[in-house]
Amino acid sequence: MSRDTQLRYREAFFERQGVFASAVRGATRVAQATYSPTASVELQEQRWLACLACDAHQRGQCMACGCWTAPKIRLTSEQCPRDAWPEIAGSS
Ligand code: SF4
Repeated sequence: MSRDTQLRYREAFFERQGVFASAVRGATRVAQATYSPTASVELQEQRWLACLACDAHQRGQCMACGCWTAPKIRLTSEQCPRDAWPEIAGSS
């Protein structure tokens, strides 16, 4: 095999590796957003704004469910007892 052919194979190999790595990174981001126990920063902010505007929110606690709102908004599995929080994208 000529040196030029070896170099072309090598370039093609690393190009495929780059495409594969990019696909893995993309799939990982989607999986983290879908299955992470921690809500995204954007979702936490939206939940926090909803709690701040809610009359059940007193001194950092939700009077409707009794939870502390700071940790509650971080967990993907948590729900607002009054359905005042935005939906998680792709959950419905
Ligand atoms: S979780 Fe829902 S009901 Fe509780 S304080 Fe936040 S917005 Fe209000």
